[in-house]
Amino acid sequence: MSSMAPELKPTTFEEIDEIYSTLNKTFRSGKTKPVAFRKVQILQLAYLLQDNLERFKEALAIDLGRPPLEASFLELDSTISDCKIAYDRVDKWARTEKAPFNIKFAAFRPAIRKEPKGVVLSISPFNYPVWLSLGPVVGAIAAGNCVVLKPSELSPAISGLIAELIPKYMDNDVIRIVLGGVPETTKLMEYQWGHVLYTGSGRVGKLIGVAAAKTLSPISLELGGKSPVVIDPKCDFKIAARRILWGKCANAGQTCVAPDYVLVPRSSEDAFVRALKDVHDEFYPSGATTTPDLSRIINLAHFHRLKNLLDSTSGTIAFGGQTDESRKFIAPTVVKGVKDGDSLMSDELFGPILPIMPVDDVDEAIAYINAHDHPLALYCFSPDAAFKNKVFDNTQSGSAVANDVMVHCATDGLPFGGIGPSGSGYHTRGFSFDMFTHLRASIDSPGWIDNVLGARFPPYTSGKVAS
Ligand code: NAD
Repeated sequence: MSSMAPELKPTTFEEIDEIYSTLNKTFRSGKTKPVAFRKVQILQLAYLLQDNLERFKEALAIDLGRPPLEASFLELDSTISDCKIAYDRVDKWARTEKAPFNIKFAAFRPAIRKEPKGVVLSISPFNYPVWLSLGPVVGAIAAGNCVVLKPSELSPAISGLIAELIPKYMDNDVIRIVLGGVPETTKLMEYQWGHVLYTGSGRVGKLIGVAAAKTLSPISLELGGKSPVVIDPKCDFKIAARRILWGKCANAGQTCVAPDYVLVPRSSEDAFVRALKDVHDEFYPSGATTTPDLSRIINLAHFHRLKNLLDSTSGTIAFGGQTDESRKFIAPTVVKGVKDGDSLMSDELFGPILPIMPVDDVDEAIAYINAHDHPLALYCFSPDAAFKNKVFDNTQSGSAVANDVMVHCATDGLPFGGIGPSGSGYHTRGFSFDMFTHLRASIDSPGWIDNVLGARFPPYTSGKVAS
């Protein structure tokens, strides 16, 4: 890591007032409505990323110790791809849609106009500070809105870079960045917004939900939680272990859809842990403590939170467990024999620690999942359709992924969102466009229709009784 994280000057309340008023003026002027205008802004966002890839990688290394390759494939490539997809498809997305034909209503020429919601707000977290900040901006702009982005104060190198580059590449009357933490976000939430997208923890999500209710601002919540993995003893342990450990180690486990814990049949626990150890040694041949291929924990508070959870577990550390406060480093750690009620099973871990909880059978695994909050993702490794169906048909989760982890977020055509405590609403690509779009019902009723529907007008004489 070459440089230090910058000290960012928070946006003042006066500046926030000015931003809100400028963006509302712009929206009312109609500037953002032509699709051609939106496409230029989307293209500019793609150039912003493309021209500055090295600076983004550097900033991700400063904030998260992110290895450059991981920076590319985990979020820089996805964000550029989101721009390309929106650019190519926005004409189609924005087109007014005719309602399905129904002879009773056809004369009204019913149609759905895809209209921007107005000035929208996106509040983003630290863990994927590029994709989760700029991805929603693509959707908001594609839908014809003005947008305020409040990136995380915990990833200052990226947030500062975004704040520096956005005004250079994009229309400053249409998109603005607000820097800061709790006071600035609280101030932002006093305004009425066309839509608020909040991505972050459920704890803060509740506060944002309450604040949005006060102004009746529509809201989508993209939250987190403990995403379980259910293991069928018939699955290929090597493949399952490789994918699960990758999901746990990418970005040092600080991923909202990281596999949080594994439910494995008691009789297979040791064999599965051995497979994880083999994969670990393949990933980090000279040891995990010196590898350049692991990100760091975002700050000391989260480092100590994770260390305390590890120190208090009643499970057995199968491998890993090394920590280094000076580097905010936690080695990939597998803890076996973990029981319900363990320190590692209370909250979303958000770190490279993988608890293995042995269960008697798949029924016990399902019962455990159902006794807790609906997760953001539910993973199941099995070659058997009946096993997978049993797990997915008897549980609820934001997404249901068989034989892989995390890749569904980047898969074109799929919505990304939670259910209940893991969130509400859907985003990414076309679903982000939909989230920031108002479906405006429209009718254009011809005069002659009163010859057919004249009975609706008083006086309601007996001859007018409807059939
Ligand atoms: P966080 O909730 O601490 O912060 C998110 C945002 O909220 C930041 O911009 C922050 O400035 C703001 N904020 C923090 N406290 C606030 C308060 N009291 N009042 C108003 N605003 C406040 O989340 P985080 O630690 O940055 O991110 C980690 C969490 O985000 C995890 O739970 C993870 O699962 C979740 N997450 C969810 C998704 C998803 O798409 N579902 C994606 C990434 C992360």
